Amino acid sequence: MRRKLIAGNWKMNTDRAAAIKLARGVVGRAGMHSAVDWLVCPPFVNLFPVSEIVKGTPVALGAQNMYHEANGAFTGEMSAAMLLDAGCKYVILGHSERRHILGESDAAVNKKTLAALAAGLIPIVCVGELLDERESGQTAVVIRRQFDGSLANVPAERIEKVVIAYEPVWAIGTGKVATPEQAEEVHAELRGLLKQRYNEKSANNVRILYGGSVKPSNARDLLSQPNIDGALVGGASLNPDDFLGIAAGASN
Ligand code: PEP
Repeated sequence: MRRKLIAGNWKMNTDRAAAIKLARGVVGRAGMHSAVDWLVCPPFVNLFPVSEIVKGTPVALGAQNMYHEANGAFTGEMSAAMLLDAGCKYVILGHSERRHILGESDAAVNKKTLAALAAGLIPIVCVGELLDERESGQTAVVIRRQFDGSLANVPAERIEKVVIAYEPVWAIGTGKVATPEQAEEVHAELRGLLKQRYNEKSANNVRILYGGSVKPSNARDLLSQPNIDGALVGGASLNPDDFLGIAAGASN
């Protein structure tokens, strides 16, 4: 049985005071929904203060990106060891905003994924098609290319540590949510790719999250799909009531 994971991606929002307030708001009531795993991913500079708040609570800490090298002359980058030192358990990799605004390739995401796993961080590897790719019937091809490229060389003994997030780019921050059937179709395809490359048991243990305008009003229908194991939440994670409302949908 896969426990659902509700992950908040705060993106480039929250100054220190707002991050502390938001983290307190989530932690205060997270225990009421113990059937799900919780995660908050603040901006890098707020990892340390948020880490102090979530320590010892059911809420885990994650970062929104990292670099694959361990240390050295990589100005502006963060290593897996630095994230672990800041209290992170998870790291989001290959988010569509990094792929499409900052030009991150599958090869770059792959290096980061392998480095995160080697260091003991849980990577949340994002995949998802653009609107024109969906409309031209390319969704399955794009998802397969991103799966193959971003998860290349992940050994069988580590694949169950990986979380995959399916985030159709046209649904992120737009208010347009994939229907539960559209999302489930892609999640089932991803599970099938895992089965082909690894085995049935591993494929069944990998959590596949849906992301794209998830809010309390649509969470229940999405999260009741058999292959949707949680949500990666942007906008709604900036309001504790909305974020907690999503978890309520997941635990019913
Ligand atoms: C995201 O940031 O990964 C995301 C899905 O954003 P939103 O929930 O705002 O669409």
